Amino acid sequence: MRYDNILEAIGHTPLIRLNRITHGFKAQVYAKCDYLNPGGSVKDRIGIAMVEDAERRGLLKPGGTIVEGTSGNTGMGLALVAAVKGYKAVFTMADKQSKEKVDMLKGMGAEVIVCPTAVAPDDPRSYHSVANKLTEDIPNAFHPNQYENPSNPEVHYHTTGPEIWEDSEGRVTHFIAGMGTGGTVTGIGRYLKEQNPNVKMIGVDPVGSILYEFFHHGAEGKAETYKVEGIGEDFCPGNLDFSILDDIVQVTDKDSFLWARRLARLEGIFAGGSAGTALAGAMQILPSLSEKDFVVVFIPDTGSRYLSKVFNDEWMKDNRYTESGLPLTAAELVEAKAVMGQPHEMVKLAPSDPLTLALDKMQAHDFSQLPVFEDETPVGALYEDDLLRLTLEAKDLKKLVVREAMRAAFPVLLPVAAIDQVTACITTNCPAVFVDLGDHRYEILTKYDLLHGIARLARTSQP
Ligand code: PMP
Repeated sequence: MRYDNILEAIGHTPLIRLNRITHGFKAQVYAKCDYLNPGGSVKDRIGIAMVEDAERRGLLKPGGTIVEGTSGNTGMGLALVAAVKGYKAVFTMADKQSKEKVDMLKGMGAEVIVCPTAVAPDDPRSYHSVANKLTEDIPNAFHPNQYENPSNPEVHYHTTGPEIWEDSEGRVTHFIAGMGTGGTVTGIGRYLKEQNPNVKMIGVDPVGSILYEFFHHGAEGKAETYKVEGIGEDFCPGNLDFSILDDIVQVTDKDSFLWARRLARLEGIFAGGSAGTALAGAMQILPSLSEKDFVVVFIPDTGSRYLSKVFNDEWMKDNRYTESGLPLTAAELVEAKAVMGQPHEMVKLAPSDPLTLALDKMQAHDFSQLPVFEDETPVGALYEDDLLRLTLEAKDLKKLVVREAMRAAFPVLLPVAAIDQVTACITTNCPAVFVDLGDHRYEILTKYDLLHGIARLARTSQP
């Protein structure tokens, strides 16, 4: 690939399949890796789009100054354009943003003014108000205003949306992303729904932001502070078209950061906290999806912007975001089960076993469901409720075999699967999961194992 300048390297980011972190879920899950843009975030796309639109309209003239309120990434996108095209850049940022982002923008030659986070958007001290004031005061200044500028969703409509559609070969069924200005979900959603109106757009909102409440109950409510950067708002941005969204789910700071760390460790995708928010949102939805579903999770920016936060163990500990002492993975739960001295031989059925034998085994071991194995692989599960129903329907259990009464096998997870995944899989409709220990060995985990494993590890970790 050969380009005339850095701006031409923006976009065409890869769609990368997630494997280990989503193991056991039926749907295919892909990460749209916008953190691989040259400036390290999705916002490279809107930087050039907003500036070139302003140039066309005569709003930005040679030698002019770009003034923007940013959580850092839009600043970087604009700083790339300012460098290539010779503009000056002045950015206002809220003081919750990481130091790395401030240093990065200064490193790009921009002036950065840090403003307080804990003030209302219309307070004269807020980063929105300061950006407005600077635009009035600085001669030949242009304020892109990513929250209202239509070029923001438009560039996603013209680039990111089509990239996802083409790279998924039209198979995408769900798109999941955090929302800041809303440009990403609005632009991508408009494009994808034009191609297939059944595509589901799911926004993920940090606890503390008002967008979740507004979507579900129509009231703006009052924002609380939260730590994840770049997403969630204390007002409704003009660029967020709520009508494009099918649902908004909520995620805590802690879950956002833990999932961002797992994404790095299990998939090699080193991304920021808002990617963790989107992934944690996906984890809420994945248990209800089938093999036919093709999920795209949006990865907005690089983890190197958060070395002093999400990827700093001290900071995580200081904020009580660690799960210290609690099992993190399915492997640890299996280990806890072994330590508790539970019988190791799994009680199993074969598809050809008569139902009377199945009933005897259930009663002997006091289990309400049993896994069915064929050629050392789980192929189904038999439930006592079904045996009861058949008996009530006057069926003769002696004449029926397990294959005729069994339901789908429990989901299979890898030992590295996060505990949240185990919890997400175990629902009222699915009482257990298998952990694939390799070599045709499986361990079963039920809600009982989950609770007892957690309790045991919590006890042993106490000083
Ligand atoms: N994640 C991060 C880290 C961001 O900086 C932003 C933009 N503020 C987003 C997500 C959300 O993107 P959008 O503004 O398009 O909704």
